[in-house]
Amino acid sequence: MAANVENIKCACGNCQCVFPIDQAFVKNGKAYCCEACTNSHTSGDICPQCQSVCGCAN
Ligand SMILES: [Zn+2]
Ligand SMILES: [Zn+2]
Ligand SMILES: [Zn+2]
Repeated sequence: MAANVENIKCACGNCQCVFPIDQAFVKNGKAYCCEACTNSHTSGDICPQCQSVCGCAN
């Protein structure tokens, strides 16, 4: 396993998810861990990683 990918933290509020940068969802120059975080959980979608809305829904 020669994975040499940088891990970054989700830009979404309280989300503590860390993920490989090549799997990031990018919006407005910020990297998020999932589509729900990218959309600021506007529809109440949970983060599949956190199994929650990361506390950032409000
Ligand atoms: Zn996230
Ligand atoms: Zn989030
Ligand atoms: Zn998360």
